[in-house]
Amino acid sequence: MKTRKIPQRKCVACQEMMPKKELIRIVRSPEGDIQIDLTGKRSGRGAYLCGKTSCFKLAKKSKAFERALKVPVSSDIYDRLEADFIKVEDEFHANKELETNDDDE
Ligand SMILES: [Zn+2]
Repeated sequence: MKTRKIPQRKCVACQEMMPKKELIRIVRSPEGDIQIDLTGKRSGRGAYLCGKTSCFKLAKKSKAFERALKVPVSSDIYDRLEADFIKVEDEFHANKELETNDDDE
């Protein structure tokens, strides 16, 4: 059997390398819109964050998205993303459980 390398990405907040599907993608569209991209397929510059609210808060505090997306991100945007992040967090983890069955807690 051929072993395929799992693509790894770095969480912009805690700097941990993780398999891509363990991370939530934040994307800046060509129009300059910043939003959460659960599909991972939207075009634009992306930043990855592990699916933890604590990491979102860390990213907000350290302005990690500005550095990763190379645009100014206002606190309004952070607030909006945070609300969305909390909303998608459950969905994100639910989807993940469908694919993998290991309990790594
Ligand atoms: Zn993280």
